[in-house]
Amino acid sequence: MTAPRLLIVGPQGSGKGTQGVRIAEALGIPVVSTGDVFRANVKDGTELGLKVKAIIDAGDLVPDELTSAIVRDRLEQDDAAGGFLLDGYPRNLGQVGDLDAFLASRGEALTGVIELSVPRDESIQRLALRATEQGRADDTEEAIAKRLSIYESETAPILDVYRERGVVDEIDGVGSLDAITERITAALAARGISA
Ligand code: ADP
Repeated sequence: MTAPRLLIVGPQGSGKGTQGVRIAEALGIPVVSTGDVFRANVKDGTELGLKVKAIIDAGDLVPDELTSAIVRDRLEQDDAAGGFLLDGYPRNLGQVGDLDAFLASRGEALTGVIELSVPRDESIQRLALRATEQGRADDTEEAIAKRLSIYESETAPILDVYRERGVVDEIDGVGSLDAITERITAALAARGISA
């Protein structure tokens, strides 16, 4: 069986982080979340963290070059040799090109893209709740609006590219956490991707 090389995509508040962790755990592969990597660096006050903090807090995208280099380094680690699940990368067409080039250099490609759909008002409601629960610095009203608008203008178009390659499964992201995990698991199983 080929290693699962997956991407989960969805608007802010779609629950993609939570579902990504569940799916990766079930498949025994690591999650590579660019948002988590950036947040950990900000928290630890590393050089990278200092560089990206203002960008993230404003809801803007970190430059592609920097983000793509971080992902390449991460995917080269041993634990990603048997597959991985990307969360939050690629999120624009430039990053799709970077990832394609990297994977192609290893004779690889993404084997599945999970598109988690939730209506806009539902995701805004969930984000408002997260803002009060987690207090993320980029969950201000302004940064949320910017991130959702970048999602629509820059991230949603990457799905057209992957759709043409026939690797996208669109999953309804409304329902209980378990129900959504089951939907994703079933879609992946239909592609021959299972634990
Ligand atoms: P959300 O999906 O709620 O915006 P993430 O945790 O995925 O949260 O990302 C948080 C922030 O980290 C983004 O707003 C952006 O500033 C930065 N970031 C994450 N992934 C990328 C990426 N692929 N390219 C550029 N910036 C990124």
